Amino acid sequence: MALHKGPEKQEQRPMSVNPFFGEANPVGGMTEAPPTHRLPDSPLPPQTAYQLVHDELMLDGNSRLNLATFVTTWMEPQAGVLMGECRDKNMIDKDEYPRTAELERRCVAMLADLWNAPDPSAAVGCSTTGSSEACMLAGMALKRRWAKRNADRYPGARPNLVMGVNVQVCWDKFCNFWEVEPRLVPMEGDRYHLDPQAAAELCDENTIGVVGILGSTFDGSYEPIADLCAALDALQERTGLDVPVHVDGASGGMVAPFLDPDLVWDFRLPRVTSINTSGHKYGLVYPGVGWALWRDTESLPEELVFRVNYLGGDMPTFALNFSRPGAQVVAQYYTFLRLGREGYQAVQQTTRDVATGLSARVAELGDFRLLTRGDQLPVFAFTTADDVKAYDVFDVSRRLREHGWLVPAYTFPPNREDLSVIRVVCRNGFSADLAELFLEDLNRLLPQLRRQPHPLTQDKEKATGFHH
Ligand SMILES: *Cc1c(COP(=O)(O)O)cnc(C)c1O
Repeated sequence: MALHKGPEKQEQRPMSVNPFFGEANPVGGMTEAPPTHRLPDSPLPPQTAYQLVHDELMLDGNSRLNLATFVTTWMEPQAGVLMGECRDKNMIDKDEYPRTAELERRCVAMLADLWNAPDPSAAVGCSTTGSSEACMLAGMALKRRWAKRNADRYPGARPNLVMGVNVQVCWDKFCNFWEVEPRLVPMEGDRYHLDPQAAAELCDENTIGVVGILGSTFDGSYEPIADLCAALDALQERTGLDVPVHVDGASGGMVAPFLDPDLVWDFRLPRVTSINTSGHKYGLVYPGVGWALWRDTESLPEELVFRVNYLGGDMPTFALNFSRPGAQVVAQYYTFLRLGREGYQAVQQTTRDVATGLSARVAELGDFRLLTRGDQLPVFAFTTADDVKAYDVFDVSRRLREHGWLVPAYTFPPNREDLSVIRVVCRNGFSADLAELFLEDLNRLLPQLRRQPHPLTQDKEKATGFHH
């Protein structure tokens, strides 16, 4: 979470209070305004407290117009009801809530099947708070397996992890927190993600694994996982190095199985030892759930698994957190049950149709050049055409905000720092109708943007990356 500093001097004022909340409030009034940055001395009536918090939150954005995030912003009311029913259930308390634990187990089994684990009964997995935690766990398993294989040299040797420079920030965190050297394959020309050959060349005896991303947060493209495995097979033949692959399927893990069944990226590839996904992205569940799966028990060293009996029972767990809400796991199971393969296929296809339809229309405007079309993840990135000098993508992002649309603009990492793009993430709930309105707003802005003397966005207003 954001690392917050204490309040500035000028912030230390009481909340402003509507006089209705005081004498005029029949529920029991409030005569003194509560402070904002320390605990009030005494309690407030619930209705007053509710109203104060509610009013403050009114200024948050409208999540349905947010084309920046991958995270689910709409679920059916029935899912909301189930989540409400489970809000007191602690996921770690598997003895008290054995049915919630059973639903988690079924979700893992369904994902193992969906991702073509050769022996689904041998696959192991767990729910997490999201892909970030899942990636930490997968990275820890890779590191521990490497350390065991190299027990004679470790701790002397420094482990490294090979991946594209386009990885999500969670992999920078993993490397930083667990003291693993990140070895990044840069972008090159029109290649905006990892190159299999370049990745294999970065591997040595201290490489704990290679991360392949399905798909990239920068532009929505799928990394070539099968080619990556083939390059590592060739490396093994040449050198004997046997480097495992983890697939970060935060988004694509819940898109490709339904829309690209012939794309081989998952446990069908023997080199893929683990996969993660975000249940709260294209898994279609509200924030707070991810999944990590290993193809078999050998891929997850036993000594990383904890059995605690404080709460009764001794179910094995692998997690960074202890207590966690059960509601999101229940909502994931509900969504699996509710949609089935055909339902997911229909939802994701509609989203992809919106993405490819909208990207084609953006291209027709003439001012923009598409990097991706939304035909892999339903996500596309575009930049201004070479002859557009009057404005840049940051101006477009800023002006679209005036119409309520949140669309990030950011610069690319090495070796394409020269490239700035806008990214549109289509999700279930961003309908073809909303896409039409978006296009109308963009179209209406263009004449004004073209009349600018030069790009107007100050450097300090430019976003430096929007990686979620
Ligand atoms: C979103 C994302 C993550 C982080 O996932 P959270 O569920 O937000 O923690 C990791 N990797 C990729 C490729 C992502 O898109």
